[in-house]
Amino acid sequence: MRYIEPHGHMVSRTTDDYQAMVIAGCQAVCEPAFWAGYDRSSADGFRDYFRQITEYEPARAAKYKLPHYCWLCINPKEAEDLALARDVLALIPEFLAKPTVLGIGEIGLNRNTKNEMKVLEMHVDLAVKHNQLILVHTPHLEDKLKGTKLISDVLKSHPGVKPERVIIDHVEEHTIKRVLDQGFWAGITLYPDSKSSPPRAVDMIEICGRERIWMNSACDWGHSDPLSVPKACLEMRARGYSEEFIDQVVYQNPVRFLSQCPKFKVGAAG
Ligand SMILES: [Zn+2]
Repeated sequence: MRYIEPHGHMVSRTTDDYQAMVIAGCQAVCEPAFWAGYDRSSADGFRDYFRQITEYEPARAAKYKLPHYCWLCINPKEAEDLALARDVLALIPEFLAKPTVLGIGEIGLNRNTKNEMKVLEMHVDLAVKHNQLILVHTPHLEDKLKGTKLISDVLKSHPGVKPERVIIDHVEEHTIKRVLDQGFWAGITLYPDSKSSPPRAVDMIEICGRERIWMNSACDWGHSDPLSVPKACLEMRARGYSEEFIDQVVYQNPVRFLSQCPKFKVGAAG
């Protein structure tokens, strides 16, 4: 079995997690910038974090021979402070040339506020200006459907955004079709007790197809499981899917999306 962990917050994980992921067949991990479990007090806190995910974390993963890539942004939760958001966005261009930075993410909405919308638009402008891939976080539970609509409206109304270069993550049963119908990629996040479980994820693939879908564990600082993608592979095996089918979902698909950034060099799809 081989797979890509396309969305993992490895700064929150232990070396045991790295080892377990590699043993399970992980070929690369990609770390979107996100909330760190606490609010940072200044843009300097983000500069340190960007250095952590572009310098220190790739070196830590390299000890397990695991390629580590990342995405940069100010997450929607901290983007409520517009002055801080502007300062952090101004930092990002200097990091975009780093060899493991894949794009802008995970941007999006948390509580669907006006300020979050403003910062979302600023990030989309930045991504288009620098020809970057985009990874989008969608809100939780009751805010998800409305937030997904607002996000896709922002993306569709921007003339520089190419939908095939955008992945909208944390889709669920009530948002996945809308995301795929608009030409975006859809990410299914597997959590032990929220977002999606492996059986629900496989149900969604059975309904919507597997063409532009990836699965990820998020494996952040909260209750989460860095092995949930290989566990979804077991669910597919149990339902009788071929190894080729499973490989497309958990390996070839993320490679195909991520290889749109020429810095991602983890084996060609196929
Ligand atoms: Zn995340």
